[in-house]
Amino acid sequence: MAEEVVSDTFKLSSTQWRYDIRTIDSMNDVEPDHGPLAQVILSARQRSDSCLRSQRVDVYLICLQDHAILDALESHPQLDLFPLILYVVVHELIHIERFSRFKQNFQASLEETHSEEARVHRLTRQIVESLPVPGIDVVLRFFSRWQGPIDTLHAPD
Ligand SMILES: [Zn+2]
Repeated sequence: MAEEVVSDTFKLSSTQWRYDIRTIDSMNDVEPDHGPLAQVILSARQRSDSCLRSQRVDVYLICLQDHAILDALESHPQLDLFPLILYVVVHELIHIERFSRFKQNFQASLEETHSEEARVHRLTRQIVESLPVPGIDVVLRFFSRWQGPIDTLHAPD
């Protein structure tokens, strides 16, 4: 559902997405982050098959931070899992869309990262607030008070 609404908003087709999504508990090789609800990892830079040899294709991995999401649900009993995950995944897909179209640099400065995070929260809100999903209003209120970044972004080593 997240992919569908983000694709609609940015006029993307499903073949343009290059990402995978996992929960951190299902991954052995990724260290959990403390605090954020998700991580976006630039997992591979592939050369595209097109005749434009310089064209590059980035593949992203969204890692949902199980422990942080469960903590948020436990400390805010009014939150429901589905609308919370929907918000988080829409948010991460917007980051990926913006990285892939070079609207944002993956290795940005701290200041750029903060203003990008605020921008992505605004876009996420615009996309999810009209969706007929029970509990989405509670999630929007939750994130309007959210202090830290919802995620961390990692480039490959
Ligand atoms: Zn973010």
